[in-house]
Amino acid sequence: MRVRFAPSPTGYVHVGNVRTALFNYLLARQRGGLFLLRIEDTDVERSRKSYEEGLIEDMKWLGVKWEEGPDIGGPLGPYRQSERSELYREYVDLLLEKKMAYHCFCTPETLEREREEALAKGETPRYSGRCRNLTPEEVKERLDRGEESAVRFKMPDDKDFHYPDLVRGDLLFDLSLFGDFVILRSNGQPAYNYAVVIDDHLMGVTDVIRGEDHISNTPKQIKLYEAFGWTPPRFGHLALVLGQDGSPLSKRHGATSLNQFRALGYLPEALVNYLALLGWAPPEGEEILSWEELIRLFDISKVSKSGATFDYQKLNWINRKPLSQLPSGQGRSLALSFLEEAEYIEKGRKLSPDEQKWLVQAVEIVKANLVTLADLPKELELFFQYRPDEALLPELREEAVSPLWNFLEEKFSGDSPITAQEFISFLQEAKGKGIKGKALFHPLRVILTGCGSGVELDKLINLLGAPEAFNLGLKRRPLLLKERIQEAKGRAGR
Ligand code: GLU
Repeated sequence: MRVRFAPSPTGYVHVGNVRTALFNYLLARQRGGLFLLRIEDTDVERSRKSYEEGLIEDMKWLGVKWEEGPDIGGPLGPYRQSERSELYREYVDLLLEKKMAYHCFCTPETLEREREEALAKGETPRYSGRCRNLTPEEVKERLDRGEESAVRFKMPDDKDFHYPDLVRGDLLFDLSLFGDFVILRSNGQPAYNYAVVIDDHLMGVTDVIRGEDHISNTPKQIKLYEAFGWTPPRFGHLALVLGQDGSPLSKRHGATSLNQFRALGYLPEALVNYLALLGWAPPEGEEILSWEELIRLFDISKVSKSGATFDYQKLNWINRKPLSQLPSGQGRSLALSFLEEAEYIEKGRKLSPDEQKWLVQAVEIVKANLVTLADLPKELELFFQYRPDEALLPELREEAVSPLWNFLEEKFSGDSPITAQEFISFLQEAKGKGIKGKALFHPLRVILTGCGSGVELDKLINLLGAPEAFNLGLKRRPLLLKERIQEAKGRAGR
């Protein structure tokens, strides 16, 4: 089995296309096949190298790997359509020789007029065949005169053409509605329906899994295979990915492109897991699946024929699993990159064991509050800034809290670290001094964290004012305990 992902680099890759790539990839992995990447950049106006580069980088981030592709080469390349022009021309000549294709000299104006006439008559527009029966002499003469021409394929007009779709079952078409279609444009560029056949055949593609927007192209492609005397691959068409309102997933629903999900801090394994569930349900019901499980369980014949609704909430839910494994697991290095981006860590700086230890503990403490990795810098702010909830400040001004303030300042005036054990002793001593209950725990939390609830103080305490914190080398230094107390005091106006 050989399958492929054949994106056009005319924009950022949409998650719908990523899902297509993923299904192809899962199929290749489970059947011991090969997965290849082909860049379909024949639309020179709209294709950009930067989109291709971004796509390759984002797909690598996702963890989908190809055995052959434009970046790594392979035996059946080149894998970029713009580098295959010669091949397309050769095979067009073959069809012209066999009289299965012909030169068409119709101008865009003529074609447009015919189109409008057909529409006015309530007919489906299709090419009239005007140039189909030009004599060889006339064609030669017009070509010699330098008249511009495209090449059209003589589309057979079977009334009940059908093919078995891997996803949708047997599909029936009336080919008399299709008309002869352009395979080589007058500017020498191959049309999609033609280039894709040449490439899929020469690259040995056995199974084509792609979006349902290509269903109506499939008969054209199969007829081209037949014209060449080649065996067509198997085809399977995936239903579109929809937004909550039932229209195709687009920007107005939220993030749509792979690079956006990456920038938003989703973990690749969560996105892969979620995308696999778009139109496919695991047989055993358990929805949180690893790569290995996806490869084992995925079943192309069980993929839904109807559109799959993209549910951002569900993606968030699936993202919790890899987040819960922080600071180890796949998220570790990605988390660091988010901290670098937010300038908590200097880019590319190697952390010392002390620094790592501090960060590991800090991440452990805040990870339950994360929806994505992008929340990490914000959640860690707790350690670097004193940003109290204004509504809690009046409490700190109360007379009953005075003894706590005094005792805190007395005990934690130095730069020395405070261990969890010392903190427990502090609490006990405080109680011994009559500082307890409402005059102790809640205000203490507000003074230390600026929040009325949240992380456990004894877990947090040794990260505030720990000597490692001084040496973290982070651009922003975590606040020391005494600094925090002073800040809180200032904010409370004491
Ligand atoms: N370049 C086409 C697309 O992005 C590929 C379609 C196909 O898989 O045949 O839609």
